[in-house]
Amino acid sequence: MEAIRILLTTHSSPGAPVTYLLYIIENALSQERDVSSWNTILAAYRRHGYAQEALALFQQMRRTDVQPDQFTFATILPACAKIRALEQGINIHQSAIERGYLSDIVITSALLDMYAKCGNINKARELFDKMPERSVISWNAMIAGYAQNGEVDEALRIFNESPQKNVVSWTAMIAGYAQNGFVEKAMEYYKQMQLAGVNPNSTTLASILPACAKMGALEQGMGVHQSIMESGVLSNAIVASALIDMYAKCGLIDKARELFDKMPKRNVISWNAMIGGYSQNGLFEKALEAFKEMRLADVKADYTTFASILPACAKMGALEQGVDIHQRIIESGLFSNVVVANALIDMYAKCGSIYKARELFNKMPERDVISWNAMVAGYAQNGFCKDAFKLFELMKDSGLHPNHVSFACVLSACSHAGLMNEGCKYFDSMSNSYFVIPTIDHYMCMVDLLGRAGYLEESLNFIIKMPIKPVVIVWMCFLGACRSHKNIQLGMFTAILLFELNPQNSATYVLLSNMFAEMGRWVEVQMVRKLMQDRGIKKIPGCSWIESDKMVHTFCVGDRSHPQTQEIYAKLEELSWEMKAAGYFPDSRHVLNDVEEEEKVFFVCHHSEMLAIAFGLLNTPFGTIRVVKNLRVCVDCHTTTKFISNIVARQIVVRDAKRFHHFKQGQCSCGDYW
Ligand code: ZN
Ligand code: ZN
Repeated sequence: MEAIRILLTTHSSPGAPVTYLLYIIENALSQERDVSSWNTILAAYRRHGYAQEALALFQQMRRTDVQPDQFTFATILPACAKIRALEQGINIHQSAIERGYLSDIVITSALLDMYAKCGNINKARELFDKMPERSVISWNAMIAGYAQNGEVDEALRIFNESPQKNVVSWTAMIAGYAQNGFVEKAMEYYKQMQLAGVNPNSTTLASILPACAKMGALEQGMGVHQSIMESGVLSNAIVASALIDMYAKCGLIDKARELFDKMPKRNVISWNAMIGGYSQNGLFEKALEAFKEMRLADVKADYTTFASILPACAKMGALEQGVDIHQRIIESGLFSNVVVANALIDMYAKCGSIYKARELFNKMPERDVISWNAMVAGYAQNGFCKDAFKLFELMKDSGLHPNHVSFACVLSACSHAGLMNEGCKYFDSMSNSYFVIPTIDHYMCMVDLLGRAGYLEESLNFIIKMPIKPVVIVWMCFLGACRSHKNIQLGMFTAILLFELNPQNSATYVLLSNMFAEMGRWVEVQMVRKLMQDRGIKKIPGCSWIESDKMVHTFCVGDRSHPQTQEIYAKLEELSWEMKAAGYFPDSRHVLNDVEEEEKVFFVCHHSEMLAIAFGLLNTPFGTIRVVKNLRVCVDCHTTTKFISNIVARQIVVRDAKRFHHFKQGQCSCGDYW
């Protein structure tokens, strides 16, 4: 036993392979378990932030003959508080009463703190009022409790009454204000605290910085940075990381990196702040790069790292790197973490590996509503609508309550497949049977569903009757439907409305001009183009990504910057000849170029996804070619890709802004409905 205690103390520095260590200790203890050995493990779990595990272990302990003592209670209550396990907390309270531990000021303070953190502030107050003597901890727990529950008025009273104000009480007030969105107030207390001669500790700074980050309050954040420099706590990794996170969230990613590079020692928290910062700023390639650097620096990734790097892979369609990360997750034993597993499923689904996603989903030891939603969304996006519905039903059968995201997923499946009756059924059941109030996402799905199925009038009526204000994106959806069904009148009416709502939205101009182009009305096309030019509106350039040899290559429309440019364009020309031989006449309507008919025949679309596909064909000898595009695929490229999949006899998967296209043997999984 003594040996284990030494082992724990020596390995308690952050970054030690804690899970592994705890595993070994737990096994070692399986033979001799008295109350102190249980307490040792519980304390270790708690110290390293494994509250869930601590509670599970405590349950296990209760099933044995070993009786918990005061130390057990003082250890397990903060764990309950941390994960807001109120029910278990109440049980422990009961046992503490039975054992007569309530006279112990440490246990009462911990109980009070647990109730306050779990949101039962009245119960906390009851205990507080009954305490014969109050510790600083109990005063602070009450202040923090009121502040966190939004009763900042009451928290302040206790704070003022409190006989000893130390850094903890000040921090409780500051954190309370910050967490409730009163950033200015938090800043005011932060200043007052300094005026009162109390120096902020790392917890104070780590509370005030996320508040600045959340509000984008850069100026205040810089003020905090200044005081950090003065107090010399920048060497504290948690503080430095909160600072990096603040700069990243305020959009100053270079400043964040500068700080990061200056850190004398970077731990997993600082790497996570940097990787998360890149991801949040849409710099996915940088995020992947930073992740590689982190590995080279020999810093072990934790679940936060994986949960922020996997969405970057998903966004870029970087499957190879995603698979690599999956391997690392297995090695580190983190697949059992539901957040990591969910991100992994989402990554596979978004990279078009839907079967792999399902395989993992089936293997998950426990699933939450996010896991189910990720899988349903994956099926919907990949065009496997029946599977999406089946899984949605299974989810309900499993006793889980579908939330608003689940309904958005299943409605988008209906919209992708053009299943109007099913869509209406799900939409009705959502508020009638599941009491989920539809949000703008759900209304948008319905507008899309009705409009694309050709029910333009019904769709318009639906928009007019919506109980919430239709935002730009809803009208864009409708304009898209007008274009598909060639209803110029309704289309123009919608475009005019959109020009008023948001004159700078380039997508409106592009959609309108595409609609005219598809009908051969080139004069109108020119007019829309001129309007764009006069108003200084720039189109979002089309961009595609393809991964090869664990490197992501980016292509823009007509791009000639890639080292293999010559080969790529030669490949496209070669393919266009083969396509011509196979009877393909390109449909250049969507190129928006009023070129001569002669030219059109030889016009090979140089949209970004075509360049990426040609690159894929050149650099991979076999297997599926996976491309991700930021905009929607045009009719031209769609037809061309179908032909190519047949000519080269390979599967090509393209994820565009809206959905997946699995091209195989001259066909696409979307059934040309997108
Ligand atoms: Zn195209
Ligand atoms: Zn398609």
